[in-house]
Amino acid sequence: MPYQMQSPPLHMNKRTLLFSFLAIVLAGCKPSAEKAAETATAPTAVKSGKPQVLVANYPLQYFAQRIAGDAVDVRFLAPKDEDPAFWQPDEAAITAFQNADLILMNGADYSKWADKVTLPESKVVDTSASFSKTYIEVRDASTHSHGPGGAHSHNGIAFTTWIDFKQASMQAQAVGDALAGLVPAAKDSITKNTEALKDELEAFDDRMSALSRRLVQHPLVASHPVYHYLARRYGMNVKSVLWEPDTVLDEKALNDLNEILAGHRARWMIWEGEPSKDSVDKLARLGLQSVVFDPCGNVPESGDFMTVMKANVEAMEKAFP
Ligand SMILES: [Zn+2]
Repeated sequence: MPYQMQSPPLHMNKRTLLFSFLAIVLAGCKPSAEKAAETATAPTAVKSGKPQVLVANYPLQYFAQRIAGDAVDVRFLAPKDEDPAFWQPDEAAITAFQNADLILMNGADYSKWADKVTLPESKVVDTSASFSKTYIEVRDASTHSHGPGGAHSHNGIAFTTWIDFKQASMQAQAVGDALAGLVPAAKDSITKNTEALKDELEAFDDRMSALSRRLVQHPLVASHPVYHYLARRYGMNVKSVLWEPDTVLDEKALNDLNEILAGHRARWMIWEGEPSKDSVDKLARLGLQSVVFDPCGNVPESGDFMTVMKANVEAMEKAFP
């Protein structure tokens, strides 16, 4: 498709860019025949010989890298500016998934693209399978769009599974089990790293659970319907509008909010990212304060999964002391 050919950088994450850069630098020192062969397979070719692990979202990329370290190559292909759940992989990305040694899926119908693609079943691991009986079903027909992925709705199974930190820990276990099966030689360190990661996730779970008693007393409004599992696990009473952090709060947006507030006397709004000063001010006039809880489905601007979750938990502790 011409769009994809014109904008390759959109489909590369930082690591891929760095890799391509290195590949070009290295290619500069090679005889021309070899150079031609390398150029033909750049930028997605990986010559490490390590098992290739393809992941559906950033949390799974982080988990797999923390757990397996250098034993595997972990590749997350969704562009930084898209929601990986609603991303449509191009043919090269689909081929990469089909050729992977292990495919870590989020489960909970996360990757909408996977319905239309045949993946090698024996390589696919659904990291949420152990709690699939307790998925939350969403019935909210509103369609909207964010990013270049086109319109979508959040109807169906709620998929932001990992912001219930107990569920995140179960996903980490599934990632650890799959990686131990893939690289038996590294089983000891994989087991150790899995336990360490689960301990950190469960420490967040304890801190959020400690807030539950206060959270049940505060109806909340969410800027986007992604907090179902967080709300269920930590006793939060949340209703959602359909805003992005950069949504301009025009009359329609504020009407949508006021409709909710009429029967749901919230004093806090949860955002996926830092809202604009204008939004914060407009909400303050309605008696609403703003708090950020970033689900971090894609690679964060700075830090990593753990620093983002730590900031989330600290923000909630500060908001509900
Ligand atoms: Zn949405």
